[in-house]
Amino acid sequence: MQKTSLFQSFNFMQSANNDKLSSDHNLEAMWHFSQTYAKRTGTYFCAEPSVTAVVIEGLAKHKDDLGSPLCPCRHYEDKKAEVHATFWNCPCVPMRERKECHCMLFLTPDNEFAGEKQEITLEEIKAVRESMG
Ligand code: SF4
Repeated sequence: MQKTSLFQSFNFMQSANNDKLSSDHNLEAMWHFSQTYAKRTGTYFCAEPSVTAVVIEGLAKHKDDLGSPLCPCRHYEDKKAEVHATFWNCPCVPMRERKECHCMLFLTPDNEFAGEKQEITLEEIKAVRESMG
């Protein structure tokens, strides 16, 4: 993935979430999920932690609004229908089958954007989240 598309996705998610931020309850749930899943799959968070934070916030917001953590990096005509179809509920099918996370939440070690961490603090996520509100 090119650097430009990484930051385009990042900007898209920021603007998509500006109306209302996630609840603390689902933010913490998706924070726990992300760390556990990264460790289980041997994947790493992005070297730029704000990318990780924005994706976790997006997942939590979808869990608030739709009841499921629909992937936050895609455009949907009908979000409820997508939740029902399950393909893009996180962890999505491309991630489960091939470790492909186009949101750059879960990166394989050979990815040029991968950092060395499978953990992020809730404070880091909340700081980014507040800057989005
Ligand atoms: S691309 Fe898949 S694994 Fe990555 S955040 Fe979206 S749904 Fe989750």
